[in-house]
Amino acid sequence: MVVWLGPAQRTGALRQLREQHFDVLVVGGGVTGAGVALDAATRGLRVALVEARDYAAGTSSRSSKLIHGGLRYLEQFNLALVREALRERALLLDRLCPHLAHPVPFLYPLTARVWERLYVGAGIAVYDVLGGRRGRSMQRHRHLSRRGALQAMPALRPQALIGAIQYYDGQLDDARHTLFVARTAVQYGAVAATSVRAVGLSSSHGAVVGATVRDLESGQEFTVRARHVINAAGVFTDQLQGLAPGTGWLRVTASKGIHLVVPHDCIDSTTGLITRAGGSVLFVIPWQGSHWLIGTTDTPWDLDLSHPAASRRDISYLLEQVNRILVRPLTTEDIVGVYAGLRPLLAGESDATSKLSREHAVVTPVPGMTLVAGGKYTTYRVMARDAVDAAVRDWPTPVPRSCTQDVPLLGANGYNTAWDSRAALAAQHHLDLVRVERLLGRYGTLLTEVLAPAHDREDLLRPLGGAPGYLRAEAVYAVSAEGALHLDDVLTRRTRISIETPDRGLAAAEEVAELIAPVLGWTEYDVAAELAHYRARVAAERDSQDQADDQTADAARLGARDVRLDSQRVRPPA
Ligand SMILES: Cc1cc2nc3c(=O)[nH]c(=O)nc-3n(C[C@H](O)[C@H](O)[C@H](O)COP(=O)(O)OP(=O)(O)OC[C@H]3O[C@@H](n4cnc5c(N)ncnc54)[C@H](O)[C@@H]3O)c2cc1C
Repeated sequence: MVVWLGPAQRTGALRQLREQHFDVLVVGGGVTGAGVALDAATRGLRVALVEARDYAAGTSSRSSKLIHGGLRYLEQFNLALVREALRERALLLDRLCPHLAHPVPFLYPLTARVWERLYVGAGIAVYDVLGGRRGRSMQRHRHLSRRGALQAMPALRPQALIGAIQYYDGQLDDARHTLFVARTAVQYGAVAATSVRAVGLSSSHGAVVGATVRDLESGQEFTVRARHVINAAGVFTDQLQGLAPGTGWLRVTASKGIHLVVPHDCIDSTTGLITRAGGSVLFVIPWQGSHWLIGTTDTPWDLDLSHPAASRRDISYLLEQVNRILVRPLTTEDIVGVYAGLRPLLAGESDATSKLSREHAVVTPVPGMTLVAGGKYTTYRVMARDAVDAAVRDWPTPVPRSCTQDVPLLGANGYNTAWDSRAALAAQHHLDLVRVERLLGRYGTLLTEVLAPAHDREDLLRPLGGAPGYLRAEAVYAVSAEGALHLDDVLTRRTRISIETPDRGLAAAEEVAELIAPVLGWTEYDVAAELAHYRARVAAERDSQDQADDQTADAARLGARDVRLDSQRVRPPA
């Protein structure tokens, strides 16, 4: 039986959080915290996980979505870091989540003769070697002439390159992957709840023994008792440290990176692209066969950590950089989505954030509490393993070693067979083949669960009116089985409607709210309040993107409150 994260499961989880005594309490449901929960649960420990907002609501839904070794670390000769990340890339693509992760080709345009081809070519050759044995369609790099490069990417200005090298990296939908990690942890016995914020730490005889948490849906506070607390709060690490006596063991700074989303037909290309731009790297990344992601920026951010805002300056910068190389320049009219995320960087000697380390740190500054931060998405499993190792190091009874390299995520087992049978699946459900391929990429073998309710309700097989890339059944499944509690969770992270449609999901919002209301027990009043929240969020984000700089963009974004802060709504008298 595959576990469903629905309203009943959440009620049960809250009861268990109050009543049970756990080995490990994980704070933070980004990819690191979800990874820690899975690592600890699969070692046989009793695990609790609390996430203040939604799974992946922080940085883990706002990345470039690449599973990569990082060519720039190669340039810094940090071969160990690159090798480790490439090992994780192979694991994710071939074993842990072949349904969610897939290879993506990238062009690296060359602009100087001979030396650049030799220099970059040697680097990418090393990258391929460090990547090890070729897994699923992860091909080796190849050198291209200018003509060959323009054939692969006709959108490039011929003057922008004299040739190119094409190589491969991995990609996944970060928000959905983090959800799958958390859901797999629950499958292995972890007790997890979202909308639960850690607001204090409990201690006894100088050791941390649990945390006070607040259920943001009801406003109730209670204590979760645990032998060890692992904080995986990303850019919120400093706030969590502040709850314990003595602070400042890890210094985590935030660097903002934004992405633009444009429809696929805006850029004529069969491949992604990576090139240098300003102080950062410019990526053009294919997204879901329907869009391109263009990123990213790298600037220090010390404003609101929950809702980083993209300003007009950020957007103009990216457009300017990408338009240097495109035949048909992009304009703001082409942009259908914009998102901003914060890199949790370990503070180093240099103040320029693009020079800070992406490696992670794990510290256990007081008995009973471990902090894990830094790193990158690709290496979340290694971070999780190191954090659990640190937490259990001094326990009198030995704890088994990490085994997550052998634990496929839900939806992975049998995926290859399901993929081979996709034509039959399409015929069985009267869906077209491309639709089934996309569904398999979102749910793997759990696809049959998503479609099962449609046996009795054929309307669920219809596409959503305002977002035809998604079925009505997906909205219902998001709240029944994938832990979504609010309209925003469904439109922003279970689906990516909020960044894939020009109206940022406004047209789909009403239909989705009506579909999920019965599962979540919403009244008409709740539906109206959720819609009002979502519309206010979209308006505030749009407003922030018209503002000149970070300060004014931040102020504009804060014009819309977080839906969870208003969850304990004052209801009108019956
Ligand atoms: C623009 C950008 C592009 C990137 N691109 C890539 C890439 O392509 N590949 C790659 O490998 N990496 C990439 N990264 C890095 C990667 O996204 C991050 O390293 C990773 O997502 C961090 O995950 P995390 O779980 O540590 O933090 P988060 O995802 O931020 O999770 C922390 C969680 O803790 C919760 N929390 C905070 N305080 C509390 C509390 N008191 N109680 C309960 N919960 C709490 C938050 O709500 C949040 O959900 C990128 C980052 C950015 C910003």
